Amino acid sequence: MDAEQHLQLLLNDTRLPDDLKHIAGKVLNNERITFNEGVTLFEKGELGYLGILANYIREKRHGDKTYFNRNFHIEPTNLCVYDCKFCSYSRLIKERSEGWEYTMEDMLNIVKKYDGEPVTEVHIVGGVLPQYDVAFYAELFRKIKEHRPGLHVKALTPVEYHYIFKKAKIDYATGMALMKEAGLESMPGGGAEIFDPEIREQIAKDKCTADQWLDIHREWHKLGMRSNATMLYGHIEEFRHRIDHMESLRQLQDETGGFQTFIPLKFRNKDNQMSNVIESTVVEDLRNYAIARVYLDNFDHIKAYWAMISRTTAQLSLNFGVDDIDGTLDDTTKIYSMAGAEEQTPGMSTKELVNLIKNGGRVAIERDTLYNVVTDFTNYDFPDEVKPQFYRLPVVN
Ligand code: SF4
Repeated sequence: MDAEQHLQLLLNDTRLPDDLKHIAGKVLNNERITFNEGVTLFEKGELGYLGILANYIREKRHGDKTYFNRNFHIEPTNLCVYDCKFCSYSRLIKERSEGWEYTMEDMLNIVKKYDGEPVTEVHIVGGVLPQYDVAFYAELFRKIKEHRPGLHVKALTPVEYHYIFKKAKIDYATGMALMKEAGLESMPGGGAEIFDPEIREQIAKDKCTADQWLDIHREWHKLGMRSNATMLYGHIEEFRHRIDHMESLRQLQDETGGFQTFIPLKFRNKDNQMSNVIESTVVEDLRNYAIARVYLDNFDHIKAYWAMISRTTAQLSLNFGVDDIDGTLDDTTKIYSMAGAEEQTPGMSTKELVNLIKNGGRVAIERDTLYNVVTDFTNYDFPDEVKPQFYRLPVVN
């Protein structure tokens, strides 16, 4: 039975409440669901029901294709002028002894470590410190591109950009144009947290507001460039805050079309100021992916960070609207491991990632940052693959 037949079966189920049936009908007819319907999905949608809706959309858009890329991270520092309550990563400046601060040379040496390796992207994101200003980042991007022009620079979030542009007394449009000119090619989705002002004030006060986050993406998109968007969920927010967050993203996407991927980020409670908050269950994580797939009808991709939610949950998520599980990482990020993720040294070889996707019943596609296909692994045999052997047995009469 295919995804559409599953959805038809659901629509014929007389036990399904009318409001959920109405939403399922909208999904089948490719109609946008409303804010209240989004909240209804969170309040009433069971995992199986949501999976059928999300998988229908996922397969209509991408079939079995599941994307990943070969990338590495640079995290310039884990010291930060801000003090987000959920952050397990940052050490305040007064705790400098527990932190690191890379110089320009340190970061270029990390890039050089990958010379000759088939990586396509460097992802740069970390804490916010005064010495990393507009001039510093512009020079860093320029030097990376000079050293390796083919390496895609995906770097910094509106949290950093807002801070450095304000310090430099330049507006967002001027700042983003400067960054583009220096070599920035796309923006990751971080720093969005949750847009609702009351919740944001409690968990991430002082850093850029929701409007500022959205404005910086808007200016970047106006330059013809692409970015991603995240949402930190599973802490003190309510379901309506999640839909409110997605609604803001959906509206900006209608306006600019510049977002590629939505990435829900699960709140992890290790070593931060919200350790008393219980983490969401795997069922809730999957429900959240599925509802995002249904609500964000103008986003091409939904991504699960395998390093954050574990390999098995990432594999499961491929049936709940997810079509991208990020990259090889090569143990270059500490953001998830320091927050208590199962993966303490996150790194997967291409073969492991491909097999994770294949064993989940999907087709693995290596992409570049902009979703151009680098390698289609549908019929790819890794050199040392042990194939199933069939031996001709002697015929015994
Ligand atoms: S989440 Fe980002 S901005 Fe907030 S404290 Fe951590 S590193 Fe700083």
